[in-house]
This record gives sequence, C-alpha cells and structure tokens, in this order.
Amino acid sequence: MPVSRHSLSLDVGLCLRESRCPVCAAAENGLQGFFAWFAIETYADPGLMRRLSRGGFCPDHTVVVEKMGPMVSRTFESVIASRRHRLELILDEAGKMARTRPGWLFLLARKLAMTKALAKIKTSEPCPACESAKGAASFAAYEVAAFLSAETNRSLYASAPTLCWPHLTAVVKVSSPALSLFLAGCHLRQMRIWHTECREYFRKSSYQYRQEPRGPEQYTWLQALRFFCGLK
Ligand SMILES: [Zn+2]
Ligand SMILES: [Zn+2]
Repeated sequence: MPVSRHSLSLDVGLCLRESRCPVCAAAENGLQGFFAWFAIETYADPGLMRRLSRGGFCPDHTVVVEKMGPMVSRTFESVIASRRHRLELILDEAGKMARTRPGWLFLLARKLAMTKALAKIKTSEPCPACESAKGAASFAAYEVAAFLSAETNRSLYASAPTLCWPHLTAVVKVSSPALSLFLAGCHLRQMRIWHTECREYFRKSSYQYRQEPRGPEQYTWLQALRFFCGLK
C-alpha cells in the first residue's frame, strides 16, 4: 500500500488543545489515507483485491465508496470475477459430493462434507477501511501514551481530558501504571463535573427554578453519549 496508514502524522498536543480525541483523529487520518489511495490505486494491490473478494466494506464505508461513483468499476469487475470463480469451485466441489452414491452409513459424512464445502461462501475478511482506522488508532494509542509520559504535557490533558472512553481504555492498556492512574484521575474529575451538571439540569427542571437561565448542563447528556461511544 503506497500511502502508509500512519503517514499523516499525529499532533497529540494540537488535538488536546482543540478538544479532540487524538486517537479518534488518528483513526480519521487513517481512513482518509485509505480512501485517498483506494481512489487511485486499488486495482494494483493484489492483497486488497483478495481481501475485497473474500469480504467487502461495512455498511458505513460502503456509503463512502458508493460516492466515488463509476471510477471503482474496474475494482468491482475484478471482485465479481473472483467471487464467480470461487462460487464455481465451491459448487463444483459440493456438486460432486451430492452426485456420489454412498451407502446409508455414509449419508451423514456426505452431508457434513457438503456443509463444509458450502461454508467457504462465508465472508472471511473484515472491512479494509475499518482495519485501516483500527491500525492507525492502535498506533496512536502508543503515541498518546508516549506524549503523556512527559510530565510537562500532563497539565494540558488534565485541563481537558479529551480521549473518548474506547480510546481511554486503549491508551491505558499500553501505559505505565503511573500514567494509567493519572488518566483515571482526570476522567474521574470529568465524571464528577458531569454528574454535578446532571443534577443541576434536574434542579432547573423543577417548577420553582424554571426562570433560571440554562447553562452547559443542558448538553451534558450529549457529551456523555459521545464520550462513551467514541464520537467526541
Ligand atoms: Zn477516541
Ligand atoms: Zn468499515
């Protein structure tokens, strides 16, 4: 793959200052790199062609490829040819078994063998775009851990803990115990603030306080929703 999935360098400090999860940003960079390359070079990559022939894109990334239009015709002509060949082989193998005339003792064995042959139809490769994003995110988790290993960078994170929950757990997995404790402490403070805001929201919801102006507490549920699923 000519464009490395990690070629778009990650500026952890900038992401933190912009209140973006740096690992989400890296995953997004990985996806952009994948699709930039996919648009021009796919057909020349036998590895990817094989993966597309045995798997395909997930629904989210199918929509992205769909928007590329007929420029992907050559790629899918190759995918169709490969699938056609594979189906012919599978049906040939299963058909041969169906035509054999074994004794009744072998009926079960024949059924199992046919089931095994037909099971090769099953998709066996994950979405290549998702895999690119996952690879970039795994790499970025190490970069974030390295960045926060420097004590001087921690105040930046403490003031705005921007890792989403899935990537917080990914970074903790590759962090030292001291850094993991620091991260857990930052997010505990964040949970306490959000919890206070939630209570404030319900306080202002009661009739006697209805005249008080609404503040950030009205969006806390949304922040939490995005934080826990990784859509920060
Ligand atoms: Zn994230
Ligand atoms: Zn995908």
